[in-house]
Amino acid sequence: MAKADYYDILGVPKGADEAEIKKAYRRLAMKYHPDRNPGDKASEERFKEVAEAWEVLSDPEKRAMYDRFGHAGMGGAAGGGFGQGDFSDAFGDMFSNVFSEMFGAGRRGGRSGGPYRGADLRTVVEIDLEAAARGTTVEIEVPGHVSCTHCDGTGAEPGTKPVTCPGCGGHGQVRMQQGFFSLQQTCPRCRGRGTIIETPCKSCNGAGRVRQDKTLSVKIPAGIDTGDRIRLGGEGEPGQGGGPAGDLYVQVQVREHPIFHRDGRDLLCEMPVSFTTVALGGELEVPTLKGKVNLKIPAGTQTGKVFRLRGKGMPGLRGAEPGDMLCRVQVETPVNLTAEQRELLEQFESLIGEGERRHSPHASSWLDSVKGFFDRFTS
Ligand SMILES: [Zn+2]
Ligand SMILES: [Zn+2]
Repeated sequence: MAKADYYDILGVPKGADEAEIKKAYRRLAMKYHPDRNPGDKASEERFKEVAEAWEVLSDPEKRAMYDRFGHAGMGGAAGGGFGQGDFSDAFGDMFSNVFSEMFGAGRRGGRSGGPYRGADLRTVVEIDLEAAARGTTVEIEVPGHVSCTHCDGTGAEPGTKPVTCPGCGGHGQVRMQQGFFSLQQTCPRCRGRGTIIETPCKSCNGAGRVRQDKTLSVKIPAGIDTGDRIRLGGEGEPGQGGGPAGDLYVQVQVREHPIFHRDGRDLLCEMPVSFTTVALGGELEVPTLKGKVNLKIPAGTQTGKVFRLRGKGMPGLRGAEPGDMLCRVQVETPVNLTAEQRELLEQFESLIGEGERRHSPHASSWLDSVKGFFDRFTS
């Protein structure tokens, strides 16, 4: 299989200067770094290619050799000894620079394990609609860790000390041979720390820290809706090797309310009204989140009619206008009639069929349409 050109891999022209190559390498190394693409084989391959190209093009001697002989020059006697070369420091250093930029920390040396920013954490809290309307404070338990007091955070049982890793001699990195090339990798034995603990602390099993959950009070502003997030900076997982802690995101879930259905800032409610009230007109007591209000129902109100109560919905977030409350009339058909009620209704029915007045605004036009439908159907 033909190997790709190192300049092509880094996307730089043949005559690129050192700064250009360095810049291209940093960008690609960040993009394809296995930590950012866990489990992605293609990225891992690209990362190795990029690292290999950098190893050659960043070294003036090797670059000159590559420019003259191409890949052949790298594998032959002239390019031999790559694996044992001493430019690992330049490579390691590069990494620490890349990561410092990524995480805003200033550690140099690039030997191992850090600094790493702690992971962001996410938690969900559920609150009632009433609490969402007035704003509230909730207490949440956050998983956390504190330094182990038994071993003072070292991870080694008191009286013992971590020893230099025999796998990497304390470097934290080992060189792996890949064909003609060698790549620097994190030492699998000490996981990059450079030391190993022979007698782990009995209290923390060598981790140097123990689990201790903490309780946080989270202020939830009035008007919050399902899906809104509150960010608590620095309350996520602690960083490693002096890296900053991650953030904690509190995701809010507002429970369904038995009466009010929320639509953004508006609240909708179905309002059962007796058929005599809508026919004769009257006044109804309507619940809102801030107490009851009286609503006038005009005579002749139809089912489905929506009354808008301005400003009686949810408050707006951060001083925005509050929403409205929308009450929809749902006319109730009377059930369980007594003999007397039944008789009165029958009397009413016989009366309503007489005379010139139209008592059913929808029905007459509906009946006309139905009649037209059947006429077309049967002709
Ligand atoms: Zn311990
Ligand atoms: Zn090691």
